[in-house]
Amino acid sequence: MTAPDVSTPVQPTQDTPTLQQLLDRITDPGGRPVPDPATGEVVGHVAQGSATDVDDAVARARAAQPAWAARPDAERVELLQRAADAVEAAAESLAELLSREQGKPLNGPNARFEVGACAAWLRATAATELPVETVVDDADEHAELHYRPVGVVGAIGPWNWPMMITIWQVAPALRMGNTVVVKPSEYTPLSVLALTAVLNEVLPANVLGAVAGDGEVGARLSGHPDVDKVMFTGSTATGQAIIRSSADTVKRLTLELGGNDAGIVLPDVDPQAIAQDLFWGAFINTGQTCAALKRLYVHTDVYDEVCAALVEVARAMPMGRGLEEQNVLGPLQNRAQYDIVARLVDAARDGGGTILIGGDPDPDAPGNFYPTTLVADIDDENALVAEEQFGPALPIIRFRDVDQAVAMANRLDVGLGASVWSSDRDAARDLAARLEAGTVWINKHGGVHPMIPFGGHKRSGYGLEFGVEGLKAVAVPQVISG
Ligand code: NDP
Repeated sequence: MTAPDVSTPVQPTQDTPTLQQLLDRITDPGGRPVPDPATGEVVGHVAQGSATDVDDAVARARAAQPAWAARPDAERVELLQRAADAVEAAAESLAELLSREQGKPLNGPNARFEVGACAAWLRATAATELPVETVVDDADEHAELHYRPVGVVGAIGPWNWPMMITIWQVAPALRMGNTVVVKPSEYTPLSVLALTAVLNEVLPANVLGAVAGDGEVGARLSGHPDVDKVMFTGSTATGQAIIRSSADTVKRLTLELGGNDAGIVLPDVDPQAIAQDLFWGAFINTGQTCAALKRLYVHTDVYDEVCAALVEVARAMPMGRGLEEQNVLGPLQNRAQYDIVARLVDAARDGGGTILIGGDPDPDAPGNFYPTTLVADIDDENALVAEEQFGPALPIIRFRDVDQAVAMANRLDVGLGASVWSSDRDAARDLAARLEAGTVWINKHGGVHPMIPFGGHKRSGYGLEFGVEGLKAVAVPQVISG
């Protein structure tokens, strides 16, 4: 992610709410306790919504939509800019809440970065234009393509980047004149409720609603007859459930379903020069990122040097509680994800992989911390390669010829991102064209940009987010001809 400047924390202003003030606005003392994954302490209590709450929220959004769509576009632009101001004013408290609930550290490409990205995406979405297109204009015909609001958008999100992904779903939908009902992950509801509360300081009533709750709430939203479009980021299995539940109403869908991204390192690289970028491509958000590098294929000529350089970088990256300023890696967000990572690293070890660093969690330590783990000499068929680990464990696979690497990279049924690492840009671009992934980065991995479309191939989903294409995705095309 390139947009926000994360080098310095946002300075509090006079209007900055404290974390306690934010929590007071969104928590319900009688609700479900939400734990801090680093300590097990309770961050706050969240009200559990029901199907009836979804119906009410959708009804309010439906009622508010015509007036919101009828506003001049310039007013929606202005409100998105003011929403970005509000996020920036609350940035430090939002980052602290995000760090406590999600686990990610304040520093590095983590909590402050994520809140900064929320403001940056709001501003970029406000600045993006989707003009009427004249598609035919001759003596016989004048045809224009307009983009109208879809109506009510349901936004269902995951727990890894809860604030940023909410903004990715909400900002374009609002810009195009839709109203939105958000359903956060059960693991990170407070972050999303706090963010929507901040946005609602400036938005008109009922344009943006949120209902926290379990999968039943998500299922109700995604099958709701009065929801016209669902924006979903999460697992492929839930994406498939949403496709099924959308069928009766022919709901429009944007599905971002994660992946198992491959990176291919060609023999002409300088291992030292690329090691830091390789590391963050894989370990951003402690590996809990849909478009993180999850399988690293390295040419045999540079294999040992790349492994050694990665170990050196990994050793230098502190992992610990997010609120401690020195840390740049945190815990797994939840125990289920910890168990997936632990199982896959065990499978790698059992399969003969060499653990270069990590792989030795302390069973008595508090929190869901799994150490940064690099596994070499691993077979491409091993479960740590074939399954999405979604955590801090990277398999490094040796290859001898490029065709073999391409075949391995393309062999899975997902294809969100991929990367090619080479000092020859043209050769890297040629290789990129052979990879089955929605985005192929060259000499970097996972950097998203608010103006560059982002979406998946194969079972990583369909539909595009960001930029002009992202606006089109939350609109209905209408041709006016004659
Ligand atoms: P899920 O796909 O289960 O959850 C994502 C969201 O969908 C949550 O808000 C969830 O609600 C909601 N949901 C659950 N069931 C339904 C349903 N039937 N209809 C509509 N919405 C529903 O992801 P998990 O959090 O369980 O993570 C599982 C795996 O998914 C991870 O191990 C990882 O591999 C992948 N993942 C990918 C992400 C990505 O960025 N693409 C992000 C997170 C996970 P609730 O939380 O209440 O169940």
